[in-house]
Amino acid sequence: MPAHSFAVFGHPIKHSVSPTIHRAFAEQFGISLEYRAIDAAPTDFSTAVRQFFADGGYGANVTLPHKATAFALADERSEAATRAGTANVLTRLPDGRLAAHNTDGAGMVRDMIERHGMTLRDQTVLMLGAGGAAHGVAWNLLDAGVRTLLIVNRSRESADSLVDAIGDPARVQSQEWRQLADLDSVDLIVHATSAGVHGTALQLPSSLVADHTIGYDLSYGAAAAGFLDWAKNAGARDAFDGLGMLLETAADAFALWHGQRPRTEPVYQSLRRQTA
Ligand code: NDP
Repeated sequence: MPAHSFAVFGHPIKHSVSPTIHRAFAEQFGISLEYRAIDAAPTDFSTAVRQFFADGGYGANVTLPHKATAFALADERSEAATRAGTANVLTRLPDGRLAAHNTDGAGMVRDMIERHGMTLRDQTVLMLGAGGAAHGVAWNLLDAGVRTLLIVNRSRESADSLVDAIGDPARVQSQEWRQLADLDSVDLIVHATSAGVHGTALQLPSSLVADHTIGYDLSYGAAAAGFLDWAKNAGARDAFDGLGMLLETAADAFALWHGQRPRTEPVYQSLRRQTA
């Protein structure tokens, strides 16, 4: 295996753009690296990851459905990974142990503020979903100064457990999914469910949207289309998908591994053209 060997683990993984992104980042610095996409079923993930690192792998990105297992199997965990309880980056330490990190939340906030010019401070935010991605981004929304974060998930227990883990009842609450129609409009709706990935259209009340509301879907491509269309049709000021978030989270992983943060915009524009 080459000295600079990297991979993304997921299931399924064949449509992942992570290899394209990391190769494009590496080109910016003249770094030669191998970056593979490895499909590992949940039962095989831990063994496959350990084998990858035992064979000289240096870093791995981890995506659905392995982020919680990646966190659990690591020997060291960053603060961001610890509060999320999930990891999207694994790095081999000099002594062979594995370090877990989570770049999802920082990447999303960077995309929102720097790419899309959004304001988070003092905003009222509704987050739909309480899965791994929601856990990865919730604290960063609070760090960025949102005034209120309302977490609404199909199963209320997951929303409640995230609210409890955050432990900031003045700012963070949950609500029943079936009561979405009773809510006032919000400044920002963060769509963090996997419904779009599974081809399911969510039924959301347009009363959540006012003319200043922004919709933000963590997913991208066809998976984001339903939510983005709904937000625009409901009258949202703007609606963005998670392609930029993907780039920013990848750039943070790249910086962890190579000590240099790549420019994301050229790669973002190139991928945007390819998916248009
Ligand atoms: P998880 O499997 O951990 O969680 C799925 C969430 O979606 C749960 O809250 C689940 O609710 C909810 N959900 C699933 N189906 C439905 C449905 N039909 N109606 C309502 N809610 C539903 O997935 P992740 O949190 O890891 O991923 C969520 C999304 O975020 C994915 O689309 C993923 O691609 C995207 N993502 C994008 C990233 C990026 O860089 N752009 C990074 C990370 C994630 P329940 O608890 O009730 O099952």
